Amino acid sequence: MRTGLIAVQAALDAARAPVHLFLRDDDAGWDDTRLLRLLDCTGRAGVPVDLAVIPQACSEALARALCARIDASPRLVGVHQHGYAHANHETTARKCEFGDARAIDEQRADLCAGRRRLQALFGARLDTFFTPPWNRCSPATPPLLAALGYRALSRDRGAPAQGALPEVAVDVDWCKERAGGDDRIGLLLARRISACGGGGSVGVMLHHAVMDAHDLALLSALIAATAGHAHARWTAMDEVCDCVSEHFETKEEIL
Ligand SMILES: [Zn+2]
Repeated sequence: MRTGLIAVQAALDAARAPVHLFLRDDDAGWDDTRLLRLLDCTGRAGVPVDLAVIPQACSEALARALCARIDASPRLVGVHQHGYAHANHETTARKCEFGDARAIDEQRADLCAGRRRLQALFGARLDTFFTPPWNRCSPATPPLLAALGYRALSRDRGAPAQGALPEVAVDVDWCKERAGGDDRIGLLLARRISACGGGGSVGVMLHHAVMDAHDLALLSALIAATAGHAHARWTAMDEVCDCVSEHFETKEEIL
């Protein structure tokens, strides 16, 4: 990990302005024990984490636990919608809950039912951005989200461009990349920090359900190596969303 952390610090040193770093953890509703362990880890470090919550998987007990943490430290934990049931509806294409196999009326019904469930569980704590399961959706989904009042979409940085609503993109898939060794994540983050040159955002996607004690130790080390740096700002997605929205102009007709 040391080589990766040194690369991150060097990239931050070279940045012309502070970089917004953020953590998006997916699949809240699965493996609550590991989720709470991750929140303990980020909470101890004083760094925000945004949870993409699966409406159909989130129990009332988990919601109560998350609400208590949000109310105690509103800056440190955020919740937003992650699909509806995390169900794959494609038969031949890559896995997708909001893909071409799903008619727009079915997508609308799923989005609204999921949002109603999360609003009942989290009330005003719920952020109005949307992370689609498997980070992908059909071209019709972003205009639908915009029409329903969602303020942003979060997918991979390389997702197909869309002009319907602002995008809070993630850059590094922690659980996929950590297989490449302890330095891999730091090296990828350094590359993205260098590419944005300061003033931009760098998102790290986590999946707590498959993160073990070693992952949490690596994450703690990454946070410790960056937290005091003048060019690193660990930021909530809501704030990144504000920055992205400032520069966003709608290019598509709203449905
Ligand atoms: Zn997911």
